[in-house]
Amino acid sequence: MQLASSALWALACKFEDMPSFTTCTSIDSCASKRLPIHTCEGNCGSRTRTVTDRDFYSSICPIELPFLAEERNRVTILFGGLTWKHERLIEGLLTGAGYLCKALPETDRRAHEFGKEFCASGLCNPVYFTVGNLIRHLRQLEDSGLSRADIIKNYIYFTAACGGPCRFGMYESEFRLALRAAGYSGFRVLSFSQDHGVFASTGHSGLQFSADFGWNALHAFILGDLLNGVQHRLKPFEMQAGATERAVAKAVSTIAEHFRTNCGFELQSIAPDFLLPDRNSRWYRFPNSLGKLWSHLYGDALTTVLPSAAQELHTVEVDWLRVKPVVKVIGEFWAQMTESDGNFRMLEFLESEGAEVSTEPISTWVLYLLHQQKARVACRQKMSIYTAPWTSPWKAITARAAALGKRMGFTLGARIYLHHFRRLAKLLSVPHPMLAPQEALSSLAAPYYNTFLRGGEGHLEVGKTLYYTQKKACHLVLALKPFGCLPSVQSDAVQAALVERLPEVSFLPVETSADGEIHAYSRVQMALSEARAKATAEFEHVLQTLHHPLDEIRSFVGEHPELRHPLNPIPRHAGITSTAANFLIYADHLMSRTLTEYATYGLAKHKRCSTILGQIRSTGE
Ligand code: SF4
Repeated sequence: MQLASSALWALACKFEDMPSFTTCTSIDSCASKRLPIHTCEGNCGSRTRTVTDRDFYSSICPIELPFLAEERNRVTILFGGLTWKHERLIEGLLTGAGYLCKALPETDRRAHEFGKEFCASGLCNPVYFTVGNLIRHLRQLEDSGLSRADIIKNYIYFTAACGGPCRFGMYESEFRLALRAAGYSGFRVLSFSQDHGVFASTGHSGLQFSADFGWNALHAFILGDLLNGVQHRLKPFEMQAGATERAVAKAVSTIAEHFRTNCGFELQSIAPDFLLPDRNSRWYRFPNSLGKLWSHLYGDALTTVLPSAAQELHTVEVDWLRVKPVVKVIGEFWAQMTESDGNFRMLEFLESEGAEVSTEPISTWVLYLLHQQKARVACRQKMSIYTAPWTSPWKAITARAAALGKRMGFTLGARIYLHHFRRLAKLLSVPHPMLAPQEALSSLAAPYYNTFLRGGEGHLEVGKTLYYTQKKACHLVLALKPFGCLPSVQSDAVQAALVERLPEVSFLPVETSADGEIHAYSRVQMALSEARAKATAEFEHVLQTLHHPLDEIRSFVGEHPELRHPLNPIPRHAGITSTAANFLIYADHLMSRTLTEYATYGLAKHKRCSTILGQIRSTGE
């Protein structure tokens, strides 16, 4: 096998016009000559490799230098593709862990053209946008005076990868092929396989995940989700244009600075020296890791920084009485989240058209991965009557125990994540953080979409449409699908059938590509006018059921600044969708039942208000 691999590798190298076996003498020579490494005795450390299957596959995917620990202080990690909130937090996280890093600028149509030029044809849209963005940035570095060899030597790109059936599984190799076509052969693309979850590793000694790094990465994703949600929630109601974005940016900077400077829990900081075992022994490492776990999940790791970041958000003043249709944006992972030309800047467009946008957090995706793993184990467990029959009792018991252990592990993982999500939301004073339960999504989607079907968002798009419609959490579900995305085409087809069967489903699929936004905008505007009419009718209907007219409620709100507080926990009422209608009921209750008490105590800010409202609700009125 090895012989065959060597022969194939040699053949591949011949086509590539490269020497098949070479000895590199230093990292510089490797980077500049772009040679595959088999034996290296230079700066990159002495190591010898034989030609393996991996090398054979590397003829398709060019061999790159590894990213070594000693390169950390000179190699810059490039990354991108998330929202600016997530990216700034990740920047803080990587800098705090001792890496040089840089988030790529926002992708746009020009980047898409670069992607089209250097990638294969017929790929899905996010590939062109993300690959093109990287290549354009490398070109800009070159224009600033860096040589290609220096760029290859001093920069790496970090991305997520998976082995799934959709094109996401090929992203990593698409990056490499396009980089090679653009003249950056040997440029390092490091990937983090989401299939391996917490056990993932890049396989490069330079990028290693310590316990603190892992926990802070989790915090960065959750806090990015929460702040992104806050931004879209407050922006339509802000009294001063741009106040939300400025406040969110300051909150993000405060948290990113914490990631940059905070060292995390260390046993040696709380225990006297004479009690401490050797720092490299397991007697130190094990209790130290437990301490870190406790500090991140339940301790004081973020208890100071998050309330102070929340203070930045308090500066935004809002008018909750503006009637806005709620648009739930779902769709393909990247298309629904990006704030760039990749989805026609749809979130910004919706807000400019007077809608309240409800985005889907990345956390839903994380919980989906855990849920799917658990469902697969449960499915395999059912097959154990064939794979581990009771005729061999020991094998049968161990197989069942192993499956049970895995299921419990995934359940525990999801519970810890949810608990942590809610805890961070509370520390950041974000009211009602919403994460759709995976069991509900999967059972709602199951009659229409095979929940074991992998690729893209799987059954999530169908499940979310039904879930948010059933919960009356939006007036319109907008599904954003990148051009060329097969999983989203499947989901859209199912959802189109759902609209016919269930008239209450208000669903609009929009395909995004680099052009055609005029057509997309006009379709969205038409659907929005219907959603706006629904929101207005709902507001009028609620107004008729209240004890106070609108102008009295307005003047009550005007007298009480707490009711213009951006993080006011406005309770949601069953069947009422818009924020304005829910706020009307809330303010009316406060005026009717507790006006005197409310005025006396000044709400003890909005906490008191929640208590009062809790009492009102518990009486069933
Ligand atoms: S989900 Fe669709 S757009 Fe996203 S990587 Fe897969 S095929 Fe491409």
